[in-house]
Amino acid sequence: MHNDNPTIYKGRFAPSPTGPVHFGTLIAAVGGYLQARTNNGKWLIRMDDVDTTRKVEGSDKEILDTLEAFGFKWDGEIIYQSEQTEYYENALQQLISRSLVFPCTCTRKQLTSSNKSIYPGTCRNRPFPDEEEHALRLLAKDITIKFSDIVMGQQSQNIARQSGDFVIKRRDGLFAYQLAVVVDDAMQNITEIVRGSDLLDSTPRQIYIQQLLGYQTPTYCHLPLAVDSNGDKISKSEGAARVDVNNKEKLMCRVLEFLGQNPPLDLADSDVDDIWKWSMDNWNIDNVPGDNRCVII
Ligand code: GLU
Ligand code: ZN
Repeated sequence: MHNDNPTIYKGRFAPSPTGPVHFGTLIAAVGGYLQARTNNGKWLIRMDDVDTTRKVEGSDKEILDTLEAFGFKWDGEIIYQSEQTEYYENALQQLISRSLVFPCTCTRKQLTSSNKSIYPGTCRNRPFPDEEEHALRLLAKDITIKFSDIVMGQQSQNIARQSGDFVIKRRDGLFAYQLAVVVDDAMQNITEIVRGSDLLDSTPRQIYIQQLLGYQTPTYCHLPLAVDSNGDKISKSEGAARVDVNNKEKLMCRVLEFLGQNPPLDLADSDVDDIWKWSMDNWNIDNVPGDNRCVII
């Protein structure tokens, strides 16, 4: 799973098929696409449907149709996480064989009543195999993960103190996002991850898993979030408005503006191909602001 040619930029866009494309999704897609293309790189699409309980029938196709209408062109086959289970299982077995995983039978109720946001380590000494219904947690070592995010700057998190033992396979048998994303990014040789900054806090856990499995760590580039007037992330699963493909020129310009690229005012009067051309010529990651911004949708 090592990156065979790290000089080739490989990025990816990993939407969860839980609803239509909204303004926040478009920001991550545009930012990732411009970053990949201006680095002469590849841009892959992966459907993050590991949590099959949140899947909305047909929304994968709807997302792809919307991206196509905006003029995105992706490379290679689209991978569905729901079809990657054997690879996640393989990674899990490697971690289990090194005694880094333990079964946890704590219920959500028990955990919330313990009044701690960090898992207190209750089940650390439970033996394998466990007949009771359980999740699987990865042992959090006292290790500080540091990385430099291209937009958000220097980051640091102690896994034991700030994350705690975290779930890598859920009680309902589904693999957790944290494990799935690491395995997929390694398998696809992703060199840079561009995504919303709601995942900034998950990144140290992902780097921790990469280190345990001997994978390379990609560079990270977390984009500011579009938030509503309450400061909450605009999220597609909470029914955020779908982007209107009939208004794509204006929307593209709003995304460019949001990402600090200062598009000229009359750019929205051009057609979408010209907007992409302007974007490729002018994209500058250094101008992307590090703070979340309120947008009215
Ligand atoms: N599927 C996640 C989302 O839609 C993104 C995951 C990632 O980029 O690592 O928010
Ligand atoms: Zn437990």
